[in-house]
Amino acid sequence: MNATFVPSLLGEDARRRVISVVVPFLNERDTLKTLVARVSDVLRTQGEAFEIILVDDGSTDGSGVEAAELERRCPPVCLITLKRNFGKAAALSAGLSAARGDVIVTMDADLQDLPEELPGFLAEIDAGFDVVSGWKRKRHDPLSKTLPSKVFNFVLSRAFSLRLHDFNCGFKAYTREAANYLQRRLYGDLHRFTPALLHSAGFRITELPVKHEPRRFGHSKFGSGRLMRGLLDLLTVVLLTRYRSRPLHFFGGIGLGFGALGVLGLVYLTALWFLGLGPIGDRPLLLFSILSTLAGLQLIGVGLIGELVVVSKGHQDAPYVLDERRAVAHREEENNATAC
Ligand code: UDP
Ligand code: MG
Repeated sequence: MNATFVPSLLGEDARRRVISVVVPFLNERDTLKTLVARVSDVLRTQGEAFEIILVDDGSTDGSGVEAAELERRCPPVCLITLKRNFGKAAALSAGLSAARGDVIVTMDADLQDLPEELPGFLAEIDAGFDVVSGWKRKRHDPLSKTLPSKVFNFVLSRAFSLRLHDFNCGFKAYTREAANYLQRRLYGDLHRFTPALLHSAGFRITELPVKHEPRRFGHSKFGSGRLMRGLLDLLTVVLLTRYRSRPLHFFGGIGLGFGALGVLGLVYLTALWFLGLGPIGDRPLLLFSILSTLAGLQLIGVGLIGELVVVSKGHQDAPYVLDERRAVAHREEENNATAC
């Protein structure tokens, strides 16, 4: 069957599903052409209607020109160019918001992911998952990347009770609903947390082992500092996913811990003083207890201010996510129902 690309498809058969492949790139001149050719071949063979959205995240090596040429020559390619390098998360967000597909696949541009594995992702989406996250089981990266990555994945899977081996694989597939949810929440370096963000909103996630190639062209855009940044971002994501609408529980929880320690120390020292068991003014415990009590009070204050901010913003985001698939199925059932 010949490929049916999105423009023709929308006119002819608007009900047929469309696959959007979103590829953020920063200085990947040597791989874009091959990537587009291989993705097109695979999806064409599958008889899928598709578009390939290339997002130029401020490239300076001429890959923008290469991508513009691909857009001109290959109808399924659509190029989005960012004004400067905003980072992978922002580039993905731009790609997701431009994607018109029913299923959105994201992949890296460096050909470390194999386009030939795309059908496996689509099969898992067909099986009913909202998110399919690639798992580079045998990774071809230096130890300086794989080791921090193992720590990161271990911490994340515990923190979010989500047993994934590889949170940060660039190769992922999303339903339209999951992509819509994600699109507004990707910024900074949060692309590493997409499974955590979606899991905490109730989306169903599965992991798919994928082959991983060594990087043959260009070089990695992420250095060793990413473990530290990733662990700091973890705090942001915990706050955003669990405490967004109740910041006092986050700050107040830590504050109560500090406050309780400080008060205990002060009670103990006061008891010593009452019993006349020596001077307490020169004990380090006194300083610690006072500081701990003050830190606790301050953290509770920060939590209360957080609550005021949440209330004054009027809960811009609903504190729940509706299951749109269920709603659509329900509407269809109602339409098909015969009058009783
Ligand atoms: N990338 C991007 N913007 C950035 C950094 C990276 O669009 O600021 C793209 C990069 O071109 C590649 C993907 O994100 O397509 C993954 O980057 P990389 O291969 O350097 O990451 P690694 O595989 O080393 O984790
Ligand atoms: Mg790579």
